[in-house]
Amino acid sequence: MIIDCHGHYTTAPVALQGFRDRQVAAFGRGNGFDEPPPTISDAEIHDSIAANQLRLMDERGTDLTILSPKASAMAHHVPDVASAAVWARANNELIQRVTAAFPGRFAGVAQLPQAPGAPLDAAVAELRRCVEELRFVGCNLNADPSGGLWTGRPLVDEYWFPLYEAMVELDVPAMIHVSSSINPNFHTLGAHYLMADTAVYMQFVEHDLFDRFPTLRFVIPHGGGAVPYHWGRFRGLAQRLGRPDPSIGLAPNVFFDTCVYQAEGIELLLEVVGTQNVLFASEMLGAVPNCVDPESGDQWDDTKRYLDRAGLGADQVAAIFSGNAMRVYPRLETLASA
Ligand SMILES: [Zn+2]
Repeated sequence: MIIDCHGHYTTAPVALQGFRDRQVAAFGRGNGFDEPPPTISDAEIHDSIAANQLRLMDERGTDLTILSPKASAMAHHVPDVASAAVWARANNELIQRVTAAFPGRFAGVAQLPQAPGAPLDAAVAELRRCVEELRFVGCNLNADPSGGLWTGRPLVDEYWFPLYEAMVELDVPAMIHVSSSINPNFHTLGAHYLMADTAVYMQFVEHDLFDRFPTLRFVIPHGGGAVPYHWGRFRGLAQRLGRPDPSIGLAPNVFFDTCVYQAEGIELLLEVVGTQNVLFASEMLGAVPNCVDPESGDQWDDTKRYLDRAGLGADQVAAIFSGNAMRVYPRLETLASA
């Protein structure tokens, strides 16, 4: 069984984004917006997945993808949580329809309605709806709803605790996933995403969040940003700050995916973080869709190739490709048994 824990519905019919554009424009003009989300047919959903994510899954041998809405389109920087709630709901409904259209091939992860500084009530309600009614297995949590300005509270602040309480109760993890950057210094995919991964890990190193929430679980995507490369710095800073060694202290709660688009990066991740805390993922179709490394001829995001060449033992393969995902996303078990 091969589970890819990080996929996005980036190929949703264009009518979806058109709806969001009109919604945001209406908010910008100070107008109300009561247009319903676009009607998208079952055939449109089928074709948009079959020709893209599902085709690549079959080519690469992936059995199941944990699928969430297009992350850069969440646009949590728009300071209106009411429209964010409508937008999240529309996206999550489509994810649910994908999971229903291709039974056993996709599991849903929720987009949460967030806005800079806004209370998390809407996010908690949408998480509950997605898990309890739509049978989702987790959520994406934007650590910087301001879109690259970092005006909010760190993830260890009690601002986030209502959401964590719901995650613990529902037994679902969050992938730390920011959205588009509105700061021209930070390219969304090449800088903002990776910096958020790195910044959040240091927040966890510095604070005792998991003393309060011992079963709370996060997946840090994109191989943890700069974390594996600077593993010694994080361990050293923990020592200097009188905090537990993160390789031990954070291991029950913080996991990394394999969305690193070169073999050396994946091998380093596995070497320093360890097999038990790494989940297979490719993030397709994400940052580099259908782009090929001219030197190797491999698609950059075909991360299974890098793992296949890493000389892993059978136990490591089982853990990385499915066992760890089943531990971190226990609701996958419920889906499988259904
Ligand atoms: Zn992603």
